[in-house]
Amino acid sequence: MMSHETTTLTIPKPQIFTQPLKLLIDGDWVDGSGDALDIHDPSTGQVISTFTGASADDVDRAVRAASRALEGEWSTMPPSVRGRLLWRLADALEEHLEEFAQLESLNTGKPLRVTRSFEIPQAIDILRYNAGWATKLNGETRDVSLPGEWHTYTMRRPLGVAGLIVPWNNPLVMAVAKLAPALAAGCTVVLKPAELTPVTAARLGELVCDLGFPAGVINIVPGLGTVAGEAIATHPLVDKVSFTGSTAVGQHLQRTTAASLKRLSLELGGKSPVLIFADADLDRAIDSAALSIFSNSGQICAAGSRLYVQSSVADRVIDGISERAKALSLGGGLEEGTTMGPLISARQRERVLRYIGEGLEQGAELAAGGFAPDRPGFFVQPTVLTNAAPGMSVVAEEIFGPVLVTQTFDDPEELDAIVGRANNSVYGLSAYVWTRDLARAHRIARRLAAGNVRVNTHSGMDPNMPFGGVKASGYGKENGREGVEAYTELTSVAMNIGA
Ligand code: NDP
Repeated sequence: MMSHETTTLTIPKPQIFTQPLKLLIDGDWVDGSGDALDIHDPSTGQVISTFTGASADDVDRAVRAASRALEGEWSTMPPSVRGRLLWRLADALEEHLEEFAQLESLNTGKPLRVTRSFEIPQAIDILRYNAGWATKLNGETRDVSLPGEWHTYTMRRPLGVAGLIVPWNNPLVMAVAKLAPALAAGCTVVLKPAELTPVTAARLGELVCDLGFPAGVINIVPGLGTVAGEAIATHPLVDKVSFTGSTAVGQHLQRTTAASLKRLSLELGGKSPVLIFADADLDRAIDSAALSIFSNSGQICAAGSRLYVQSSVADRVIDGISERAKALSLGGGLEEGTTMGPLISARQRERVLRYIGEGLEQGAELAAGGFAPDRPGFFVQPTVLTNAAPGMSVVAEEIFGPVLVTQTFDDPEELDAIVGRANNSVYGLSAYVWTRDLARAHRIARRLAAGNVRVNTHSGMDPNMPFGGVKASGYGKENGREGVEAYTELTSVAMNIGA
């Protein structure tokens, strides 16, 4: 089964190299009964493990276990104990930080310094943040204007069984960003990692089993989206589906969940604009714009992938970003010195190369990259395209790769025209503004059709900052109070206490 040398890992050989990955259902590790699936190392293209994914029957057993767990010990567990369990999970993850960082880098090709110093710590923070919410999900009393005497209040209750469907670009962070608020709210969960990246979710399941979560509260069913994901979305006992992934599958889920009216939150794609004005701190703007599109090899829903730069500084900005693109050191996630890893799959690499080809055919020009380096693995050289125009597919569509398309504007006072170009997209996830003129920044922030606006930064992600899109980028927020309340039902209680 195993063809991959694990010499690059410095942690003890993980189980996926010695036995196929299993499913966590009702507290037990069981073999899947669905499709045979390969796990690749995208840095080499080699198969590192195989496993049998979850079938619809497996998902059914997982959902029923989650449904039963809702009625058991979990339902009467004090919120503070739920919170403590989440905190313990964060501690356990922290104890195994290096192991998780290496596994994530192996399975996704992300540079180890990113998983080690950013992604796994981010997952730990999200768990701890949501642990605090378990004790703070309150209703409130309301004053009403009805005749007589009334005692009226609202209360929050867990929504029920939450089906969590996550993609491959940030496997552990995305899983935890759904799992932690769902558990804090008192839901039980069935988590489906992406078929390409099930490794860290499975390892998280092993940690969970040692911490005292009642059986059936957390179920993990790696498998195909069209099989296991579909089974979650259509299962009558699933009360909410939280999905991150493509807009096309999000739309499909809207249709499949419509009949049951189960709750749905959709964190979908993006084509986020970056507006750079001449008065900005240009060195910082250049670094930040490059990081925004080249981090994770551009496979980030919020990546700043459309640059609009004031023409008086366009050469400096585009040259600066192109230099940074050329300076990136492509390599395997676990290779020393790697600053940019591969794409997740051969399919994703072909998709990105196809878009670059289309852009060039339609009149865009290359300032950097534009090709796949001659080495094994799913690499694409970080790419900057100039001379882009609105009708081009590279401008209109989400590429989900390290490709920046650049355009210019002349008059910085014509805010409506500039913002109009930024808003000219079916997507509305994030938008980035670079200027030292704060009044201008506020005026633009009000006008941008985006769920997340960032000024003079490409960052700003925090467990306490709601994140989510508008338009084809989906609906519903993750993170913050809104993120955890999304796993609750608000019930209003009106009592006539008049004599
Ligand atoms: P998908 O939307 O297909 O996959 C995301 C998740 O949904 C995966 O777990 C997938 O499972 C699952 N899924 C797929 N089909 C179904 C279904 N019918 N019912 C329920 N679940 C399903 O994304 P892709 O992996 O195909 O990537 C394609 C494009 O999507 C990217 O190029 C990018 O543009 C966008 N994307 C956006 C992301 C974001 O963060 N917003 C993340 C990932 C992709 P499985 O992988 O096992 O098939």
